[in-house]
Amino acid sequence: MPAHAAPIDGPRRFNSVLIANRGEVALRIQRACRELDLRTIMICSEADRNAPYMATADEVICIGPSRPGQSYLNQAAILLALRTTGAGAVHPGYGFLSENAGFAEAVEAVGTVFIGPPASAIRIMGDKIAAKRAMMAAGVPCVPGPDTALPDEIAEIKAIAAEIGYPVIVKAAGGGGGRGMRVAHDPAELEAAVTVTREEARRAFGNPELYIEKFLEQPRHVEIQLLCDEHGNALWLGHRDCSMQRRHQKVVEEAPAPGLSADLAAAIGARCAEACRQIGYRGVGTFEFLYENGEFYFIEMNTRLQVEHPVTEMTSGIDIVREQLRVAQGLPVDLSQAEVATVGHAFECRINAEDPLTFAASPGLVTGLQWPGGPGVRVDSHLVAGYKVPSHYDSLIGKLIVHAPTREQAIRRMRVALADTRIDGIATNLSLHRRIFEDPAFCAGATDIHHLEKWLGGQKP
Ligand code: ADP
Repeated sequence: MPAHAAPIDGPRRFNSVLIANRGEVALRIQRACRELDLRTIMICSEADRNAPYMATADEVICIGPSRPGQSYLNQAAILLALRTTGAGAVHPGYGFLSENAGFAEAVEAVGTVFIGPPASAIRIMGDKIAAKRAMMAAGVPCVPGPDTALPDEIAEIKAIAAEIGYPVIVKAAGGGGGRGMRVAHDPAELEAAVTVTREEARRAFGNPELYIEKFLEQPRHVEIQLLCDEHGNALWLGHRDCSMQRRHQKVVEEAPAPGLSADLAAAIGARCAEACRQIGYRGVGTFEFLYENGEFYFIEMNTRLQVEHPVTEMTSGIDIVREQLRVAQGLPVDLSQAEVATVGHAFECRINAEDPLTFAASPGLVTGLQWPGGPGVRVDSHLVAGYKVPSHYDSLIGKLIVHAPTREQAIRRMRVALADTRIDGIATNLSLHRRIFEDPAFCAGATDIHHLEKWLGGQKP
């Protein structure tokens, strides 16, 4: 047994995990807990009460109505479920409360382990100016621009922009989900962008602070996966390319990012690991970068498990959720950086319940279902035939992941896997994925973050 596959021996901080999420990630976490003999407590909304993964949980507790604000985002209801069930730990998954520092604090305040970084680290990374400052201090390369909030005086702001050079992007310190940013190509646009973004920031994020940086015109989205424990160990587990995006939402991800110099990646990975040590990070996290002309520029850190973690698991052979649970138990990562090696190439297609042309959500009853199989094919999904996709949540219904020795072979494997997949009763974006894997530019690799939208614009309906 390799060292990193060691089970949890000795005294445990927790024997049960409350899974504060839903859908495919709730099932992913539940499976990892079951392998480690951790008791699983699923919370659910009324809409998810009959979801198939409830049957394999040790305990299920319905915490409220279907609307996320009344269930998966309702901290009081989740804390009450914690008290009622006596759960030893909470896994927040991704989305919902996973990056809410106040929630992490509230969980720890009642003596429960929050499976994630310390609240202080979530808080720093949730403020984009503080995050940029911390990264610059740690030597992580950032997009050119100051690591301080913009002054009030427009003349001073224009002077900062002139120094950076146009185009620039105005961003809200508290922004997220692709909101709270605007591009400016000249001083007049800058003035308008500052006024509108400041107002939006005040209203939507409750934090009027803005900053500006250089706007990169044709970058790729490349990110680095980190794994850290509380004993000062921080490892990077390789990189991913998530440039195939529509409206800032990732559609296809792959590992490794094609065409990156191994030396450059190793240097950036080492910087990220060092930054984690400096801020006392614990658990898994992802450094997101824009990558252009052979240079990395940090944009943000996600302080949680990511949707696309499976492509890193397939290439590194490391079960990221299992490691997350082990380090939350206080165990050291029993793997050294030199032992982390990535093999082959992996892709992930996000399968959404949505129209493949209009992208309108398509909830409803799944009347028939067939998943693919064979070597190097993995499906992470909570779907079964007869399952009703609720209308209240994100449209992600599953992830199709393939792994093969080379990128070319992985593309062929994904084409076959997509051809063998059938989901009846609801519209899905499967046909979009089938077309993407026939797109010569995507197949050649290294397309930028605008490629998918441009390509979609040129497609005949
Ligand atoms: P959010 O937290 O809202 O996701 P990010 O800072 O991660 O915000 O940026 C989201 C997206 O906006 C990036 O993936 C990229 O497409 C674009 N973006 C952000 N900063 C820049 C920049 N300096 N130059 C070009 N594009 C940018």
